[in-house]
Amino acid sequence: MDDSVLILGAGPAGMSAASRLLSSNVRFSVIERSDVVGGLAKTIPFGPFSLDIGPHILCTRPYVYDYNERMYQFIKEMLGDRLILYEPLNRKYLESVRVDGDEFIYPIQIKNALQNAGLGHALRIAYDYVRSRFQSPSNPDDGISFEQITTAQLGRSLADLFILKYSEKIWGLKCSALSSDLAWRVGEFSLMSVLIEQFSNLWKDARSQSGHPVCYPAQGIGLICEQIKEKIENAGGKVTLNACPVRILHDNGYIYEVVVREDDTLRSYHPGYVLSSIPINSLVRLLDPEPPAEVIESVMSLRHRSHLCLYLIVNRDRVLREHCIYYPDPEIPFARIMEQKNYSGDTCPDDLASLAVEFFCWHGDDLWNKDDPGLFRIAIATLQELGIVREDEVLDYFVNREQYAYPVYDIGYANRLRTVTAYLEDLKNLKLIGRSGTFTYMGQYRAMEAGSNAADEIIQRRLVNEDPLIQEVVRP
Ligand SMILES: Cc1cc2nc3c(=O)[nH]c(=O)nc-3n(C[C@H](O)[C@H](O)[C@H](O)COP(=O)(O)OP(=O)(O)OC[C@H]3O[C@@H](n4cnc5c(N)ncnc54)[C@H](O)[C@@H]3O)c2cc1C
Repeated sequence: MDDSVLILGAGPAGMSAASRLLSSNVRFSVIERSDVVGGLAKTIPFGPFSLDIGPHILCTRPYVYDYNERMYQFIKEMLGDRLILYEPLNRKYLESVRVDGDEFIYPIQIKNALQNAGLGHALRIAYDYVRSRFQSPSNPDDGISFEQITTAQLGRSLADLFILKYSEKIWGLKCSALSSDLAWRVGEFSLMSVLIEQFSNLWKDARSQSGHPVCYPAQGIGLICEQIKEKIENAGGKVTLNACPVRILHDNGYIYEVVVREDDTLRSYHPGYVLSSIPINSLVRLLDPEPPAEVIESVMSLRHRSHLCLYLIVNRDRVLREHCIYYPDPEIPFARIMEQKNYSGDTCPDDLASLAVEFFCWHGDDLWNKDDPGLFRIAIATLQELGIVREDEVLDYFVNREQYAYPVYDIGYANRLRTVTAYLEDLKNLKLIGRSGTFTYMGQYRAMEAGSNAADEIIQRRLVNEDPLIQEVVRP
């Protein structure tokens, strides 16, 4: 065992940890299964295009995407003028929701919502909302469903319109089977905050002065991890791609060896610490000796929703006015479409557009098993019907598949997760970080913060020399 750190996974959490260790001269290795860095926040090169996995912005609203000042400053410093700033109050970043053919601008604008919902529906929304104020569950816990808490906070009509149907599409479960832990997303739809924003200029001014605008890297969201990789390589370090841990050996509460398949060879690492951002399900199954049956059972029941992204190369300079459009309607097979060029002109050639069409599914189900032409056929039929793009305009297409995209918070998941993390906490030189690593539905800032904080912890323990691992190395 030595004093170096083995980082599993080169997504935002792993790369942010690596960057922090680099700046403190701590030795580390990064192991990444894929042939690129960035994880879910990577950017895929396709000819002259640079394509993200669905819409990926770094937001200013803490309750939406886990805004984090330290990570924002880190990214800004690293990317400089390659970070594009959007001013949300000027509505330069545009999202909309389409329900039954009606278009609602998101974030909600009262005038637009009233116009499109119609007076009858608007009155129903207001009535349900007021009624819900008197019915809120007072003590939300894991037994309360996402549906209960959402309708209690927003009223049934607004919840249905903007949240429940879309959530069922993402998670593949009825909202009554989802945990109330997902309810942090409800804040972004709060009717009260919409009213305040629209009618209080005072508040608006305060917000525009204090908030940071929405930002996006000019060459795609993947630029963040790619830049960190470059920094590591410039300092003589290495991120090992196409590499996967195949066995994690532990004894007496410590991991003492990690066997990694790199291309076709096996290599053993003997790290002082392991920071793992790979899916918790994969990690547990690699442990040797294997954990008790209860832990294995619990981890197997923690499911991820998978994400398919069909990219269309369209023979038009632009397809959408918005950055992305949500489709909660269950009749529509995809959940969202996004136009990459609207995020940054640098990611697409001037005369062509790329439309990303997002589907959610379970790993191994019919949709997951569809080949690229099969998925294209499903998408194009609806896109033509909606008048968005015609088949004869599509020059090319391909599909990106992500098995571990969204950790599913079904009711009871928290207890099962606790069983797993309680077991893993006994491994004193292992720290879980990131989204699938900790099975936490988090955005990029929070994943990066988790990686950076875990690295800080290691650095601190080394500085005060109170770490038994380091002492073991010094005095074997
Ligand atoms: C469609 C979509 C849209 C999103 N939009 C936003 C947004 O707008 N704003 C925002 O803040 N966040 C957004 N997110 C969330 C954001 O992408 C994640 O929070 C972030 O990528 C998590 O980083 P991570 O490093 O924890 O995990 P990941 O990004 O999942 O990285 C994990 C890494 O581990 C690697 N790995 C997995 N298994 C192994 C293995 N066995 N061995 C070695 N390596 C392995 C993976 O290949 C990957 O590179 C979005 C996510 C999705 C799916």
